[in-house]
Amino acid sequence: MGELNAAGGAGVKVEEKLFQNRYLVDAGRPHIRIKPHDTPSEGLLAMTHLCPAGCYSLGDGGQVEISADGCVECGTCRIVTAATGEIEWNYPRGGFGVLYKFG
Ligand code: SF4
Repeated sequence: MGELNAAGGAGVKVEEKLFQNRYLVDAGRPHIRIKPHDTPSEGLLAMTHLCPAGCYSLGDGGQVEISADGCVECGTCRIVTAATGEIEWNYPRGGFGVLYKFG
């Protein structure tokens, strides 16, 4: 993963910056759901590599799975799968989800 520029902290890796964030899980109410599928589209499959928070994974049966804990709400998966409609994407309820810390 790339390095941030001086504005983000020279020499600080993206993973280290993401680790500074906090996340409040809304237990039992994930804000992103993948619709049942047998074979994922190319876009959905690509999310196992594209999601900056690593929320997507490939299950043993070849279906894409998500654990939305740690989602940074970037919207990449929403855009990538917009044409196929494979995911339901909502913002977390108020008070839940990512808490950004920029210090
Ligand atoms: S919104 Fe961004 S961080 Fe959240 S699951 Fe989708 S790609 Fe990952």
